[in-house]
Formats: sequence, structure tokens, C-alpha cells
Amino acid sequence: MLKVYNVLTRNKEPFVPLDGKNVKMYACGITASGSAHIGHAYQAVIFDVIRNYLEYSGYNVTYVRNYTDVDDKIIIKARELGVNPIEYAEKIMAEIDAQFEQLGICPPTVCSRATECIGDMIAFVQALIDKGYAYPTEYGDVYFKVDAFPEYGKFSNRTAGEELLSGVRNETEPGKLNDRDFALWKHAGDDEIFWDSPWGPGRPGWHIECSTMSMKFLGEELDIHGGGKDLIFPHHENEIAQSEALTGKQFAKYWLHNGLVKVNGQKMSKSLGNGILLGDLLKDFNGDVIKMTLLMNSYRSDINIMDGIFDSNEGKIYDIYKLFAKIDKLAEGVEPATGCELSAKIRREFTEAMDNDFNTALAVANLFGYVNELTKLVNKNMLAEAVDVKNTLKEVYGVLRLLNMDPAETVRGTKEKYLRLNGVTKEEADSRLAEWVEFRNAKDFAGADVVRNAMAEKGIVFATERGGGSYWDVKIGK
Ligand SMILES: [Zn+2]
Repeated sequence: MLKVYNVLTRNKEPFVPLDGKNVKMYACGITASGSAHIGHAYQAVIFDVIRNYLEYSGYNVTYVRNYTDVDDKIIIKARELGVNPIEYAEKIMAEIDAQFEQLGICPPTVCSRATECIGDMIAFVQALIDKGYAYPTEYGDVYFKVDAFPEYGKFSNRTAGEELLSGVRNETEPGKLNDRDFALWKHAGDDEIFWDSPWGPGRPGWHIECSTMSMKFLGEELDIHGGGKDLIFPHHENEIAQSEALTGKQFAKYWLHNGLVKVNGQKMSKSLGNGILLGDLLKDFNGDVIKMTLLMNSYRSDINIMDGIFDSNEGKIYDIYKLFAKIDKLAEGVEPATGCELSAKIRREFTEAMDNDFNTALAVANLFGYVNELTKLVNKNMLAEAVDVKNTLKEVYGVLRLLNMDPAETVRGTKEKYLRLNGVTKEEADSRLAEWVEFRNAKDFAGADVVRNAMAEKGIVFATERGGGSYWDVKIGK
């Protein structure tokens, strides 16, 4: 049975959706103020995998993720560039969608944009005012009245003092009755983008966007609400306050938070200049290398991206696809065996790992052991079994969105990358290999070594297969 760590109760609990096999899941998406970095990719990969595993386990999942496409940061950025903020956000969202597709993750059931739901947000805010949970100011802003919601602070486990320390006090917002109150609607500044509202021209606050969009597409009660753990306060605390004040019902049954991404042990920050952009990563590595690196971590803990980690995992992914390509070639037309013990074990252990709060770290660690077993089957020429195990790995690890690529093409792509990096052409590698074979056939091993060493310097290795055939390969990594 699936157990998930619920941040709401701080316990690992059996997963029981509100409505049988139907799961309603919302995850906070990206503010389209700049290009996606690895932290955005981490969250998107994690919740895509969670959704996918739930479906693999027999649930019907409706997964909603949003884009915040109007926000102070977007307005500032667009102003710097001298462009329209909506068009700027549009461009960023298109870029991120394309990158996520290249990364090999699926779009959510609904990808909602804040600007498409402004009317719903205004209605939400008005309903909160009507119920006495919010108040407009003479300046055209609307605030949530935190004192009217006694449960406030419970989710993030904060006392009133801590809330104030979190920076809320530093905001200078005239008309605000209490430092803890937060904006539901903000009046538009000079030349700022705005929508008309009962309180004058303005735009929604960030927190109300998620409450409105999740309710619009999923209803008043969610099974899962996800996001990065940096959103627990104030964002998720505020979402709960707004939503539960409006409906009187529990907003989400399970709250799941992913850890944050660190680079060489440090938080990513503009001042350190250590951010890793997803677009840059995708130029260097295929989607499996990136996803596997992210999934080798358990999602709740922070992930530390050390120098060279992608290169090292590229080698592992390359080896798996080489093995798959070899099986495809050797076992063309071979029917897969049935009742394979190893295949049953792979399925069982995968479910065990994932049922334990989506333990992708264990699932990925197990994969390397299975690949060793599969290599042995190929070496023993047990091809029917090998085909079955390969198919099982593709099926099971496909849930993690891994091993879905075409083996021969992936191997070719990685080889081409390293030929290019090393400044070697395929023709050169082929002809040098032929020379090496000639020297060896002539028993001129000294001559053969000269050729081989010269190519090894360029990152190309020569080897012979069991049957005696020779081939060249690339050395992965810098
Ligand atoms: Zn949100």
C-alpha cells in the first residue's frame, strides 16, 4: 500500500484519496519571470513522476499545474527590457514548455495561467470580503484579515513572532490593518498592467492565484497539493487560509513538498552566479541523464548537484542504452520469455520502493543491479530472457520517465557528441581502428599500441568483442 509523507500532519500516512480511485492533484508552477533553472526542472520532474506512479498504481489522476504570468518580478523584468509584460511571460512560458518536452516529462492535465482566471480571482476575493475575511483599502488594495482565521500559522508551525521575522513587516503597505495580513489584490502602479475590479484597476496577489485555479479546475477539496518546500510559508499557509475561510472545508488532504537544489553544497543564487539553467543542461545532456540525476535523490531532501555528476550519470545511461541496443540487434525476432523471475523481482521491488513515499532514490539504485543481471543474461546468450527483462525495465522505469528513448539513436547521439568534443571525425575513428586491427593481425603489437594510445589521447577507445570483432567507442566525461 502506498504511503506518503504528509507535511500537514508531519507523518507518513496511507494514501487514501477522497473519491475512490480518482486523485485530484495541484502543484504550484513557475513564475514566468525568467528562464527555467534546474530547481524548476526538479519540481516538474518530481510531480510528473508522482502523477505517473499513481496512474501506474491504478488511480485516475487529474493534475493541474499553473503558470504565474503576472507578477511584480515579471513587470520589473519586462520594464528593464522595454517589452510588454504579458508578451514577455508568453515567451518565457513557451520556452519552458519546449524545454520540459525535450526533457521528456508530460504536460499536466491542465496547465492554467493566472491571467486566464482573473475574473475567478476577483469573485474569490469578493466572496472573502463578503464573509468578513478580507477588507479593501482606500488605496485600491484588498488584504486577507489573518486575525479572522484562527488556524493561521498552524500549517507552517509558526508563531506570530516568527511570521513577523519572515519579512512581512518590511513591506510598506498603507491601509494594511495588521502586519500579518497579506495582499489578495494589488492596485496598479503608474503604467503597470491592470485589470478592472470592484476595488479599482489592479492585479491579483500571488497566493490567491493558486487557491482560485486549483478550485476552478479541481473543486474545493484536493487530494494532493504539491510544491517546493520553500513555499510552505507564506505561500501555502496563505493558500490554506484563503481557501478554508471561503469553503469551511479542508483544502488539501495531503501536502507534498520537494527539497531544494544546491550546487556544490551552496544554494543557487544570482550573487554567487552558480545557477544552472535547464536550457544549458539540455544542450549538453539527454533528458534521461538529467532526470536520473534528479531522481537519485529522495524527493523530500535537498539535492546537491556536484561538479561532474551529470557526466558520470551520462556514462551510466550510455551503458544501459548500449546494452539495450545490443539486445535489439542480437535478439531481432526473438520472442520474450515468460515468467522470468528477474522481471517479477524488478516489478516487486519497484513497487516496494515507490510505495514508500515515492522512494525514487532506491528505485534508481536498484536499476544498476538489474542491468548487471541483464548483462549476464546477454553474455550467456539467454536472449529470450534478456528481451523480457529489457521490456520490463522499460515498462517499470518508464514510470520514472526513464529508458523511453530509442537505444540505437541514443547511443549514436552520445558518440557524436564526444567525437565532436574531441575533434575526431567518425571516418578518422573508423580508419584508425582498421589500422589497429591490421597491426594486430600482423602481430605488430608495438605498432598497434602507438595507434591505440594516440586515439586514447583523443578520448576514443579500441576494443574487441568476444567473437573477435573490433570496435571503437567514446570515453564519457571530461
Ligand atoms: Zn501556489
